[in-house]
Amino acid sequence: MLTAMKVLLVEDEKKIASFVRKGLEAQGFSVTVSDNGDKASELALAGSFDVILLDIMLPGRDGLSILKELRERRNTVPVILLTARSEMNQRVEGLNLGADDYITKPFFMDELLARLRAVVRRTSGETLSVLHSGPLMLNLITREAKYGDEEIIFAPREFSLLEHLMRSPGMVFTRTQLLEQVWGYGFDPQTNLVDVCIRRIREKIDRDGHQFIETVRSVGYRFKQEENRE
Ligand code: CA
Repeated sequence: MLTAMKVLLVEDEKKIASFVRKGLEAQGFSVTVSDNGDKASELALAGSFDVILLDIMLPGRDGLSILKELRERRNTVPVILLTARSEMNQRVEGLNLGADDYITKPFFMDELLARLRAVVRRTSGETLSVLHSGPLMLNLITREAKYGDEEIIFAPREFSLLEHLMRSPGMVFTRTQLLEQVWGYGFDPQTNLVDVCIRRIREKIDRDGHQFIETVRSVGYRFKQEENRE
């Protein structure tokens, strides 16, 4: 399904561009890299890409203005934003402008591939502003969560952790990965932060026999895929 998909990778950080290009090419994608917003915009508007990975801060035009123009011209090419942790507002703006998803740097190749696959599956061009799993719903724009009709109040970190797991159902994340991806720690603080946060989330969402987050012994955690949960 993914072979020969044409990806436009817009990223001016050379290390990231090279890491992503190699990872995608290893999976059989055809990758065009652009490190400049003006050039990237021309390439994107000329069409012929199956998906665009779009950095926000770029020399020349910024990623959001490229996205805006694409959507104004009714170009529905799937766009995944590559965002920095600090770019929360831009991320929300990007989703509102019609980005299909975003991924926070630094990320793991497996995670990016999971997002790409999900975007490819959603052929309708709908934007991913809401995550669902059975009765559980997270709205990524308003940061509201519901179980059925009932609103669930999460601390910001709990929301982010649950979102992170829910975005890649079935994928196991180690505690170290979660500390890096959700907390932004590049070191192991030698605490059970992750476990405590998982426990708080479970207390709020595990009801009616549902167990959404699975503990993978001596590895980490994963969000159960819907078909496996019954
Ligand atoms: Ca950049």
